[in-house]
Amino acid sequence: MRSTSAPLLLIPGPTPVPQRVLEALARPTESHSSSVTASALQRLQEGVTQAVGGQSSAGPAPMVLVLGGSGTLALECGIVNLVAPGEKLLVVSHGLFGERYAAVGRAIGADVEVVECPWGEQVPPEQVEAALISSKAKVMTATHVDTATGVVSPFRDYARIADHLGVTMVLDAVATVGGMSVDMAENRIDVVVTASQKALGMPPGLAILAVSQRALETRRRLSGCRSYFLDWLNWEATMGDSAGRYFATIPTNMIIAGKAAVDIAIEEGWENRFRRHRRMARSARRGLRAIGLNPLAQDAVLGATVTATGVPEGVTPSDLRLEVAKDGVAIAGAIGKWAPLGVRFGHMGAVDLPDLLQGVAAVEAALARLGAPVERGAGVAELVAGWGDELPD
Ligand code: PMP
Repeated sequence: MRSTSAPLLLIPGPTPVPQRVLEALARPTESHSSSVTASALQRLQEGVTQAVGGQSSAGPAPMVLVLGGSGTLALECGIVNLVAPGEKLLVVSHGLFGERYAAVGRAIGADVEVVECPWGEQVPPEQVEAALISSKAKVMTATHVDTATGVVSPFRDYARIADHLGVTMVLDAVATVGGMSVDMAENRIDVVVTASQKALGMPPGLAILAVSQRALETRRRLSGCRSYFLDWLNWEATMGDSAGRYFATIPTNMIIAGKAAVDIAIEEGWENRFRRHRRMARSARRGLRAIGLNPLAQDAVLGATVTATGVPEGVTPSDLRLEVAKDGVAIAGAIGKWAPLGVRFGHMGAVDLPDLLQGVAAVEAALARLGAPVERGAGVAELVAGWGDELPD
């Protein structure tokens, strides 16, 4: 499926892009107001709505915004529509991307309060509740999986608390949408923020947000949005009918490619896709452990899309990355304050068992070349054993 000359991207984004999606991307550019673009956008929006569980049987569908940009733009778009300068924003941070959300909040002039925990852990829901009550914040953010650590947050508990207190909740699901469920409608999450280049298996280039009708109402009550391009109200008509209503030029090739990626996911089935991600996470971790790459956080708090591991003694993270790259496999370094500790693997989007086999085999060979004590074949054997086990729920 992957273009054969490309390196195998086992990094936490961008992820491998299926050939079918690349071919869609390469088609001649469409007008932003053509019916082809409009129907691709609509299908992409429907796919995102399904991926995030955005629509319950009774409730209205969210507005899905698809903008040219990266996940960071989506983070900014998620709060600039909800928080006026000087207003409180509570950021729940369990890693680097929580810290980033706090920085974005400060940049838009919000009065940011952070509730955080040590990296590798989760912020207890009681702490979030106490912080919401004491800060009187009306808007909060949380990260689903922090890509620096691979740790998943108990965001469902946060959402319940936010809903109970009448707080608008924005979830940074950049590292998870398409690979893990967020059940937006069921959990009454107001805004889910993501990007194209991770578990959705699209190329980098799209900032994507699912905005509930409740959040849109909150925007309407805000005294103006301090961004012109990111204002939901400017995009509302275009996102409902891009052929009829121009606001700004939308990235048509990427939207058509995004539609192709959504088609693939819908053919697989979202639940099957989420299950494949859980299976990949477990088997990849078994394989990596068997060759001395132990996850830096406890299994119980890890999400399904990313794994940060240590490296065996005597091997540096950058030596390992460079050595693995010689076999055409890209792995990532750890980032932020964990940068010296190890490396990171992405196992999401279009990645599947054969890719993991290639990846673990390449890491094993690289470790052997670097003189680390590895039992040849142990990683691949454990990976396969993990894959074959009963599927985790
Ligand atoms: N949030 C999370 C959880 C992420 O993983 C990332 C990207 N690593 C971002 C936000 C920022 O996205 P981008 O790099 O596309 O701006």
